[in-house]
Amino acid sequence: MAQANPPATHALPSYLQADHLGPWGNYLKQVDRVTPYLGHLARWVETLKRPKRILIVDVPIHMDDGSVSHFEGYRVQHNTSRGPGKGGVRFHQDVTLSEVMALSAWMSVKNAAVNVPYGGAKGGIRVDPRKLSLGELERVTRRYTSEIGIIIGPNKDIPAPDVNTNEQTMAWMMDTYSMNEGATATGVVTGKPVILGGSLGRREATGRGVFTIGMEAAQRIGMDIRGARIAVQGFGNVGGIAARLFAEAGARIVAVQDHGGTICREAGLDVPALLEHVRLNGSVAGFAAAETMADDAFWSVPCEILIPAALESQITAVNAGQIAARMVIEGANGPTTPEADDILHERNVLVLPDVIANAGGVTVSYFEWVQDFSSFFWSEDEINARLVRIMKDAFAAIWQVAEENKVSLRTATFIVACKRILQARELRGLYP
Ligand code: NAD
Repeated sequence: MAQANPPATHALPSYLQADHLGPWGNYLKQVDRVTPYLGHLARWVETLKRPKRILIVDVPIHMDDGSVSHFEGYRVQHNTSRGPGKGGVRFHQDVTLSEVMALSAWMSVKNAAVNVPYGGAKGGIRVDPRKLSLGELERVTRRYTSEIGIIIGPNKDIPAPDVNTNEQTMAWMMDTYSMNEGATATGVVTGKPVILGGSLGRREATGRGVFTIGMEAAQRIGMDIRGARIAVQGFGNVGGIAARLFAEAGARIVAVQDHGGTICREAGLDVPALLEHVRLNGSVAGFAAAETMADDAFWSVPCEILIPAALESQITAVNAGQIAARMVIEGANGPTTPEADDILHERNVLVLPDVIANAGGVTVSYFEWVQDFSSFFWSEDEINARLVRIMKDAFAAIWQVAEENKVSLRTATFIVACKRILQARELRGLYP
């Protein structure tokens, strides 16, 4: 006699559950908050709680000393209902599957929020790149690319830079994928060097988006950027560029923290000089024209704007009460836990969420991908103008949804984005 199917269950596999602490749990709580606003589309919400595809790969390489080392790599495609997967690749010693899953999901939300035709994906390798030689780094990158080559491609999933990866990493990834394909495939990654089909303005795009959204919000709450004090955590691609643009607009960058330490200057740091110091020394630590402060004291620095632009889960229930800023602009992905979000909300601190505030990078990545397909390249002015227009329009729509529903900007962004994703899911239907 045929066995009956086991009863249908919505129980999630253990690694997908919310009480599994970490960034994925935070993401699931954010989805739960938005579900009541999804109307009839809520019946599809389970789609958002399960990544479509998870690939874990072993990355063995020859080290310079002749030994062999193994690293763990991930590529997660959270959702592809609206288009190919899209999202960065992170090299960090603390990368976990939970983190990469959450980052891939936030990419789905972000891409839908700015309405670029992508799903969400993310990748990472559990490695401290500072401990590898350039040759070892290249071998790790190439072997990882080859391992995930079975699921990436210009029409399938398009990686980009993230923490500790850059244009050179993308050049190696593009070359490795192309060698395996037997043809140069520039569109397989974005954030490439301009000479290899990269886009003008891509390097600055995320920071420019942070700045654009910050200016839009400041204008709406009547905050004058000239003279405004800003504290920035993370002084890499995102934090460094955002700080530069705000300083150029007349703001004072009063404190900066990175992995090496925390520095401050009440009168405002000389941002170009600090960028040069970091380029030469790898960290803000030791910058002569500043004072050093305790890392913990960073969160209570008096300022109008706080920009977390390093890693996730930095603003927590422990330090959210100390934050003295009027506005938090999330340059990093997932820097604020849901508990901290509530505390900031109660304290009337306006949070500009990652899923819109740092969407400038993927927006120009989209331009890069379009340019690669058409082999026709645009001017930097054209790119920046298109970027600013998309960011401003998306932010205006989200602001309106927040006001209409009396919800936070994060929930409003999730409402706009999740509706787009689930509408696509519903229209496509289920196969078979
Ligand atoms: P990056 O590698 O260029 O810079 C990371 C910065 O964070 C460095 O200054 C580093 O010193 C600092 N940092 C690392 N660990 C820290 C710690 N424990 N405490 C304080 N500072 C620490 O990376 P990035 O590209 O600027 O990315 C930063 C954040 O922005 C990440 O959350 C990333 O996902 C997000 N993001 C990046 C892009 C992009 O286009 N690069 C786009 C969207 C979002």
